[in-house]
Amino acid sequence: MPREAGLAVVVGAGVSGLTTAICLAEAGHEVKVWAAEPPLRTTSVVAGALWGPSFQEPVAKTLAWTRQSLRDLTALAGVPGSGVRMAPALTVGDLPGLDELPPQARLIPDLRPADPAEVPEGFWRAFRASMPLMDMPQYLDYLVNDWRRRAGRSRPAPSVR
Ligand SMILES: Cc1cc2nc3c(=O)[nH]c(=O)nc-3n(C[C@H](O)[C@H](O)[C@H](O)COP(=O)(O)OP(=O)(O)OC[C@H]3O[C@@H](n4cnc5c(N)ncnc54)[C@H](O)[C@@H]3O)c2cc1C
Repeated sequence: MPREAGLAVVVGAGVSGLTTAICLAEAGHEVKVWAAEPPLRTTSVVAGALWGPSFQEPVAKTLAWTRQSLRDLTALAGVPGSGVRMAPALTVGDLPGLDELPPQARLIPDLRPADPAEVPEGFWRAFRASMPLMDMPQYLDYLVNDWRRRAGRSRPAPSVR
C-alpha cells in the first residue's frame, strides 16, 4: 500500500462513483461507497450509453481522458459479462472534414466519412466508427463486483437488485 494510502469515502454509486472507487482501490486505498440510491436507481442505469470523445478545455486533459477511457472500454469489450461492446456508430451533424476534426475525435481508430447515402436529410456530414456501447445495468453490476473484488466495502452496500 502506498505511504499516502488510507481510507477513501466515495459518495455516489453511479458510473462516476463506482469507477472512482475502483481507481482508488487500485491505488491502494481502502474504499467505502456511500450512496443515497443503489446503482440500479441512479441516472447512470438509464443512460444510452455510448462512449464519445470529450471536447472540453483544457485540451491536454480531455485528450488524455478520451484516450484512456477509449482504451479501457475497448479492453472491457473483450471481457465477458462486462456489459461493454464495440458498436457500429453513425455520428451526424454540421461537422468539419476528417482532417479538421479535433484531436480527441481523431483518436478513434476506425473513424471514417460515412457513405453520402447514409447522411440523413438536413445534415451536412456523417462519420462511421466503432464506439464502446454499454448495457448499463450489466456494466454497473460489473463495476460493483470489480470494486468488491478489490476488497471494497460500502455503507449502505450498493445493491444490484
Ligand atoms: C436518457 C439518458 C441517456 C444518456 N446517454 C448517455 C450516453 O449515451 N453517453 C454518455 O456518456 N452519457 C449519457 N447520459 C449521461 C450519463 O447517464 C450521466 O452523465 C452519468 O450517468 C452520470 O453518472 P454519475 O455517477 O455522475 O451520476 P448518477 O448516476 O446520477 O449517480 C449519482 C449517485 O450519487 C448519489 N447521491 C447523489 N446525491 C447524494 C447525496 N447528497 N448523498 C449521498 N448520495 C448521493 C445517488 O444516490 C447516486 O448513487 C445519459 C443520461 C440519460 C438520462
